Amino acid sequence: MNYKENYDVIVVGGGPAGIMAGLASARVGASTLIIERNGFLGGAATNSVLGPISPFHFGDEQVINGIPQEFIEELVKVHGSTGHLKALDAYGSGAYLGFYDREKYKYVAEEMLVKAGVDIFFHAFISEVQKEGDRITGVTAITKAGTKKFGAKIIVDASGDGDVAVMAGAGYVYGNAQTGKAQPGSSMFEMVDVDTDRVYEYIYQNPGDFEWKSDLVPVREYSDRLKQHYFVAQGFKKLVKKAVEAGDLCFGRDSVIVLNGIHPGSIHFNATRVTGYNSADPVEKSISEIEGRRQIESVSEFMIKYVPGFEKAYVSVTSNEVGVRETRHIKGLYILTAEDAGEGRKFEDVVSRGYFPMDIHNPDGVTGYTEGNSGGCWVDLKDTYDIPIRCLIPEKLDGMVLSGRCISGTSEAHGSYRTQGGIMGIGQASGVVAGLCAVKGVEPRNIDVKEVQQKLVEFGASVWRDEEKKAKEEAHATECVKKYMSRRDKCITKKEVMDQYYK
Ligand SMILES: Cc1cc2nc3c(=O)[nH]c(=O)nc-3n(C[C@H](O)[C@H](O)[C@H](O)COP(=O)(O)OP(=O)(O)OC[C@H]3O[C@@H](n4cnc5c(N)ncnc54)[C@H](O)[C@@H]3O)c2cc1C
Repeated sequence: MNYKENYDVIVVGGGPAGIMAGLASARVGASTLIIERNGFLGGAATNSVLGPISPFHFGDEQVINGIPQEFIEELVKVHGSTGHLKALDAYGSGAYLGFYDREKYKYVAEEMLVKAGVDIFFHAFISEVQKEGDRITGVTAITKAGTKKFGAKIIVDASGDGDVAVMAGAGYVYGNAQTGKAQPGSSMFEMVDVDTDRVYEYIYQNPGDFEWKSDLVPVREYSDRLKQHYFVAQGFKKLVKKAVEAGDLCFGRDSVIVLNGIHPGSIHFNATRVTGYNSADPVEKSISEIEGRRQIESVSEFMIKYVPGFEKAYVSVTSNEVGVRETRHIKGLYILTAEDAGEGRKFEDVVSRGYFPMDIHNPDGVTGYTEGNSGGCWVDLKDTYDIPIRCLIPEKLDGMVLSGRCISGTSEAHGSYRTQGGIMGIGQASGVVAGLCAVKGVEPRNIDVKEVQQKLVEFGASVWRDEEKKAKEEAHATECVKKYMSRRDKCITKKEVMDQYYK
């Protein structure tokens, strides 16, 4: 790869947002470079060993479309994803879950970007920015061979923590503006050689032991290699209590979330919580890694000792880095609020849409969702809401577009748009904005949003609701549920939830 000194667009960070931004920018016709500190793409989705992609959907309506959906389809083609499976009970997990193989995720993302003509510069950490007045003009990366400077007409900050914007002097809020606290991180892991049928049977036999649980149903075809009955559950409360009292378990929660791994015989864990560390601070982050690994050891040994089906299991993979849910929210031309999200507000300058409940993990303690939402909270939305272009444009800086989890929003709103589907939609929008601005020589704050929306629609994005499509998706999903469940002899989803499908 022959790297140039100057690009139309540089995307800093190759996570879900950066991947989509790079693809969209290149498709608009801008020469594009992605700079990533790791040697692979995917950000937290691969590096921090995440489980399934949360929905692209609000109910059964697919809200995130276009390049993010193309990515899912490419993954499905190479036996790397189940595509979107419908969660019969959306409480706690979201309406759909897309299981993916993390190694295939890295491969597919790379291939799509290379084919689109995007240059990717790995193992490079952005340490400085160049500016002319309030305009950012380039970045300096630290590499093994010293520093390397790149110039760009537009820089997309998809670093998650908003590193580039902060280096350039942007204002930001860390976590929640009122409390100064951010959602805790988690060290994720998976175990293999698990008898998943026995785990399912335990959940089935002990329904009261689980805060929430759901069967998952396919609505489209995917590889036979990945076929198994997928499910999600949070609980094992009795066993957790017993193990904690016996001194056999020490972790940052009071229950364990399990899901299948994408490959049969494996289980994915979202079961640890490292609370109270600022993950944008290197010292605190180092300590949190040690804390996270201790919790993985404790939870995995607990599973083997206490939970039926895990007797012969072992840990097959752990996160390379504590998964960071929340750090800085860069101040943009508009700050998306909890009310905007919760009320399903629409904006004329919409460039992507939000649809996921506000899911805020308890920043203080071990308890899960609490009544009155005083600790962790799960707040359903009245409707999808719009993400305006103004949330992607820093308040006072030019030459820059914000992307992914550092866009301008409050901690609560971020609790909704932070999952991968929302982030990919934002990534796609940020790439279109950056690409168009670079090609036309316009500042992001001056771009005509109608041109951005038109391009997004060309790429297949669902910028606005299509009622006819939504009705078809709902009918199709109900049909799939009935057909799939008619072949099963048991189900862990609550009866009152199941009854809704047979009204
Ligand atoms: C514990 C945890 C569980 C989650 N569970 C789910 C889930 O079940 N479903 C779901 O859909 N979503 C889940 N998410 C959310 C999902 O991971 C995020 O939405 C997504 O990863 C955010 O994407 P991003 O591209 O904005 O940032 P990131 O994924 O953080 O990517 C940022 C990228 O920038 C790179 N980078 C950072 N700083 C620099 C720098 N200075 N120079 C160069 N490169 C840099 C990083 O290496 C990284 O690749 C979870 C997140 C966490 C932390």
